[in-house]
Amino acid sequence: MDLLTIGAFAKASGLSPKALRLYDELGLLRPARVDPYTGYRYYAVAQLDRARLVAWLRRLGMPLAEIRAVAALSGADAAREVRAYWARVEAETAVRRDLAAFLVTELTESTEAPREGPTMLELRCAAHSDRGHVRPANQDTVYAGRRLLAVADGFGPAGAPASGAAVEALRFLDEEDGPRPGNVLNLLADAVRGAGDAVRDVTEEDGETGTTLTALLWTGSGLALAHIGDSRAYLLRGGGLFRITHDHSVVQSLLDEGRLTPAEAESHPQRSMLLKALGADPDPDLRLHEALPGDRYLLCSDGLTGAVPDDRIRELLAAAPDPETAVRSLVDAANTAGGPDNVSCVVGDVVSPVG
Ligand code: MN
Repeated sequence: MDLLTIGAFAKASGLSPKALRLYDELGLLRPARVDPYTGYRYYAVAQLDRARLVAWLRRLGMPLAEIRAVAALSGADAAREVRAYWARVEAETAVRRDLAAFLVTELTESTEAPREGPTMLELRCAAHSDRGHVRPANQDTVYAGRRLLAVADGFGPAGAPASGAAVEALRFLDEEDGPRPGNVLNLLADAVRGAGDAVRDVTEEDGETGTTLTALLWTGSGLALAHIGDSRAYLLRGGGLFRITHDHSVVQSLLDEGRLTPAEAESHPQRSMLLKALGADPDPDLRLHEALPGDRYLLCSDGLTGAVPDDRIRELLAAAPDPETAVRSLVDAANTAGGPDNVSCVVGDVVSPVG
């Protein structure tokens, strides 16, 4: 067997001697031989491939525990794990990117002089929620006010009080004059934390109850979004339908990681299993949307998206003359498709006030 000193092996593999000693201690890359007298480590030339793979995975930023798992796999299985790891990184980065953009806007607005003239845009909205044809009770809660739109889908023994408490805890946002420029992020984060506390109060932390929460707050020029769980927000703009939330669900993460196809996801038995919900996990996704006149926003529970395909949602949303008609026709469509779950919709139109 051809043996290399740790120095020669480090040079050939692109890993430092210090890293090689650490990986030995962690069991990630054991030397082929350790001299019993001097303690010097020697590596086989045949270990180079594994060492170089470890070096590449380190460069990717993969944690050592995950590298150990990947390095133990065959090529195809290792490839699948690297793909899945990167999908998780991209999903986390997207959330951080949204937060960074939100912060940039906030910091800019807090130092700028207030904008001149009256606010040119307004929000018009409507909400509708229905038990559906199968569930014994409606555990969804919806809200549509002057500034606030919200959907909460409660689950567990106290699901209805949970979703009700979450939305109730946000209602003060609608009663105020509107957020001070540069303060939306703190206001929304505090409100969602308050909603989480309210949910814990009604559930007494039974461990099974919780709720999703997807809310939009009108800032006068845009909409701030707070989102946790698998209810969704969509934007209809220029005839196209864009989903602006990412489901915090097991199935969505399997999809992201390439472990499920969209067709498999539709009938997955754990479709409704959440990765995050209000009450247990307080960290919502937060982002800011600049509004354009003609924008139509939709918030909905999974009772709509589980029963009605996105194409149909887009058609119904685009055809409705006003938010009231839109929420009615979307809820009707879910019920026509069997009404397998509680279904809730809130639609908000961004309009220029007349006169
Ligand atoms: Mn539901």
